[in-house]
Amino acid sequence: MTKHIPDQNIAVYPGSFDPITFGHIDILKRSLKIFDKVVVAVACNKKKFYLFDQTKRVELINKIVKELDGIDHKRIIAVPLKGLLVRYVESINAKVIIRGLRAVSDFEYELQLATTNRTLDFEIETIFMMTAEKYSFLSSTIVREVARLGGDVSSMVPPLILNELQKIFSKGENDETLM
Ligand code: ADP
Repeated sequence: MTKHIPDQNIAVYPGSFDPITFGHIDILKRSLKIFDKVVVAVACNKKKFYLFDQTKRVELINKIVKELDGIDHKRIIAVPLKGLLVRYVESINAKVIIRGLRAVSDFEYELQLATTNRTLDFEIETIFMMTAEKYSFLSSTIVREVARLGGDVSSMVPPLILNELQKIFSKGENDETLM
């Protein structure tokens, strides 16, 4: 039996976004060429340490999206993700999960995730978008580490994130090393 075909072509872009970077934003903008609407699903894993809590990460993404030039802002929304990703995707009647691929090192983990999600719901496809070359080494982890040690991350994140990072890291002294 044919299932209900959604009238809008919605994709879900899941991740930690701790914090959102220009790499994520590039994937988001390019996704809008293919999908009517992209929902950024902001994850929270109790076992992980986050620099920004889930509510703050959602809020920051929504603010940044509003400031992006040349896009219809209403086509992107960030939401907090609770529970299994595929259940959320089903609940909004979407059929596609978007993931970004950087180096070969991303591949194994992404394959495992996509295969698991496909096992949980074979009607949901994961599509991968290759990173823009200039962002291929950019990750939220790198941003956090460089910012923690007082480095300039203005080429990696939007000004709003830069400001938030400065608020957090301007106080402390650094006795760590990043090489
Ligand atoms: P990270 O792996 O940096 O913690 P997230 O969990 O926030 O990132 O990533 C969400 C998605 O965005 C993942 O599919 C990840 O591969 C992708 N992504 C992250 N950084 C980039 C980048 N610089 N270019 C393309 N895709 C990226």
